[in-house]
Amino acid sequence: MGIERLFKEKEFVMSAEVFPPKKNGELEGVIRALKGIKSVSPDFVSVTYGASGTGGDKTNDVASVIIDAFDMEAVAHITAVNMTVEKLEETLQVFLKKNVQNIMVLRGDIVEDSKFFDFHYASDLATYIKSRYPKFTLLGGCYPDGHYQAPSIEQDIENLKIKLDAGVEHLITQLFFDNDTFYRFMDMLAARGINTPVSAGIMPVTNVKQINRLVSMCGAQIPKRLANIVANQTSDDMYRAGLDYAIEQISDLHAHGVSGVHVYTMNKTNVAVEIFETCAPFRK
Ligand code: FAD
Repeated sequence: MGIERLFKEKEFVMSAEVFPPKKNGELEGVIRALKGIKSVSPDFVSVTYGASGTGGDKTNDVASVIIDAFDMEAVAHITAVNMTVEKLEETLQVFLKKNVQNIMVLRGDIVEDSKFFDFHYASDLATYIKSRYPKFTLLGGCYPDGHYQAPSIEQDIENLKIKLDAGVEHLITQLFFDNDTFYRFMDMLAARGINTPVSAGIMPVTNVKQINRLVSMCGAQIPKRLANIVANQTSDDMYRAGLDYAIEQISDLHAHGVSGVHVYTMNKTNVAVEIFETCAPFRK
């Protein structure tokens, strides 16, 4: 099923993200995480694609496990970085064979060996796929804090419009920690005439090191309240405080009538299970 239907049928869609193993064949860790995630019935599960366009086979394998072994809706990520038309065609044939209906098109994180061949932006992937395989459902990323390479958030939204016009039907945000930033962003989208459903990306921060890494990786702003929480916790307390912060964010998003929340689980079963269980009343 294309996930766009979920957003027509449900008031509040809750989904989860997992990442594939680094090495081929080492699926045990992600399968363990998926067992826990299955127990809380997310509406769909997305699988990331390795940085610099690596690891596509593992993404495909995990998407296939989500569909066949766990009977859940899957979204497979692909990236423009290091992608050629030939490699994309091979990937799309695998998706068709494995019944992967939903694809998240992304530019990809830029690392040392990142190169661009036939595609530069996520919208280039969307244009190619939609013109040849219109039945795939395409998702894309968006940035409440603005993308780090865009000269302004207004320009980033103009570029986002290109991606939507190319066939992206659903958006998932980069993680953010300040809901007001998200609400402002949604107002800006509405003012630009963009009414595409948006899932709010929530990352539970359960250790102090993680938050420093996240800030340098994706430029998310840390609100004072979260900075104070991080500064005053021991490692053990941080787990509880980080979960509570994420649950509060989701509860507030639900109260504001957002279409959905996408939980970046980092393959941590306990984190995913507790968040979904606590937020279960929102999904009724
Ligand atoms: P794009 O939409 O292509 O935009 C990239 C930049 O180019 C932006 O600054 C935009 O404003 C600008 N731009 C876009 N189109 C144009 C245009 N036509 N002309 C001029 N400028 C333009 N990375 C991975 O490697 N693997 C993953 O699995 C992965 N999953 C992600 C999931 C989500 C929900 C999100 C939000 C991000 C994910 N990322 C992943 C990270 C992502 O690849 C990076 O954030 C990347 O820097 C941007 O990707 P994008 O698809 O949003 O890029």
